[in-house]
Amino acid sequence: MTHFIKKIFGTIKGFLFTVHCPYCGKVIEPNKNCCDKCRKEFPELPLIKYATGGYICTAPFPYDGIFRNAVINFKFHNCGVYAEQFSYEMVRAIKNVYRDKEFDIVTCVPMHKDLLRERGYNQAELLARECAKLLGIKYADLLAKTKKNKTQHSIKAAERVKNVIGVYSPIDKNLIKGKRILIIDDIITTGSTLGECARILNKCKCGEICCCTLCTSLLT
Ligand SMILES: [Zn+2]
Repeated sequence: MTHFIKKIFGTIKGFLFTVHCPYCGKVIEPNKNCCDKCRKEFPELPLIKYATGGYICTAPFPYDGIFRNAVINFKFHNCGVYAEQFSYEMVRAIKNVYRDKEFDIVTCVPMHKDLLRERGYNQAELLARECAKLLGIKYADLLAKTKKNKTQHSIKAAERVKNVIGVYSPIDKNLIKGKRILIIDDIITTGSTLGECARILNKCKCGEICCCTLCTSLLT
């Protein structure tokens, strides 16, 4: 191989395998999930919040500081590639809080097809698929967002519960019946979105429901 071709191959390899810290953007070793400096900022214990209807939701991070920046980049700035790195921290929270609980299916909060087309990916689905892989549990789409509504972060907390009612529908009730389900989303704020998804799954007679998000808002 000539020096020139070797150089090009090296550049391509370097480009393909460069791993960045999702919280600060620094290049890190390919076998690591973040840099040492950011890891020092990780909360020692997972956070817990309750979605509407009393469904428990755990998250490894607060929606604040480096974690807030990371989730915003992940969601809006085409950083879907970080899903795998985030999922290790989510699974750590899931194992810590839900201990020996068993789940049959991992699913996600769905996105309306128009928004999915615009953004190109549903960040909650990317996280859910990676968490399912690490947990060794099947991933399945159980709900569809059949109605468009205002984005939850654009409206006041009091209006959020109403804003999500009736926007989700089951894809196949037979897939849901009797199943213990883990629902994944990127952020929990008031808990009305996860609460509404859980309400619909419950209507389809599922078993237990637990939730996990990447970040939890400290405010409601
Ligand atoms: Zn970092």
